[in-house]
Amino acid sequence: MNLILIGPPGSGKGTQSDYLVETFGAVHLSTGDMLRKHVKDGTAIGKKAKSFMDSGALVPDDLIIEMMTERLNEIKAEKKSWLLDGYPRSLKQANALKALAASGNAVDAVIYLDVSDNEVVRRLSGRRTCPVCKRTYHIEFMKPAVEGKCDADGAALIIRDDDKESTIRNRLKTYHSQTAEVVSFYRKEGVLKAIPGESAPSDVTQKVASALGKSVKPKKK
Ligand code: ADP
Ligand code: ADP
Repeated sequence: MNLILIGPPGSGKGTQSDYLVETFGAVHLSTGDMLRKHVKDGTAIGKKAKSFMDSGALVPDDLIIEMMTERLNEIKAEKKSWLLDGYPRSLKQANALKALAASGNAVDAVIYLDVSDNEVVRRLSGRRTCPVCKRTYHIEFMKPAVEGKCDADGAALIIRDDDKESTIRNRLKTYHSQTAEVVSFYRKEGVLKAIPGESAPSDVTQKVASALGKSVKPKKK
């Protein structure tokens, strides 16, 4: 299954991707993580993307489309499926992805996590991120076992540069003006699964699973 996770910033795309990767064995592609690596490594893409990311705007379509088309074709060549987290985020990107359908990159389902602006602000202002494995935590809603440390690898958790209130508001504006229409695009294509995303993470996972005709195995103690 080729899957897309879409929703406002902080809607839980990264959090829910663990279950989907485990269940469908897909390659997880987070455009945000890919871009932050480019910025950290000081590549040409990173240099072009940084100012847009810092302000909460979208990085220009041509740059993103080129980066993603290359990666998607590599995954297809390895005969694997993908889970897109943060792509497409504009109609131009959605149309570029549609153009790849005939060559084996068709979209099977789009999971839309529906979360209000107020909840986004609450979540992002308390988000902590592992710089090593990219897992996210929340200081109130999803605490790590040891304060400030990643459960998976023990790395010191960080606050992302763009998780500050003024940038969060800009990211929400960008979402409503450019990404919300991608939700309508996939609704018309008949592949959209809209999931209410404000309940507890495990409850959202149950809803995602049942929308895809799966069940969630209880975690081993
Ligand atoms: P996205 O990838 O969509 O930006 P994340 O998965 O990083 O979102 O989640 C954003 C923040 O909200 C993180 O701090 C995460 O721990 C927290 N979070 C995720 N899902 C839930 C949920 N269902 N309830 C409460 N907090 C959540
Ligand atoms: P979140 O889901 O929490 O908003 P991401 O990590 O997905 O954060 O994205 C961080 C930033 O990277 C975005 O604010 C934007 O500047 C850039 N970005 C990520 N994905 C895309 C995309 N598909 N198109 C354009 N810019 C993107």
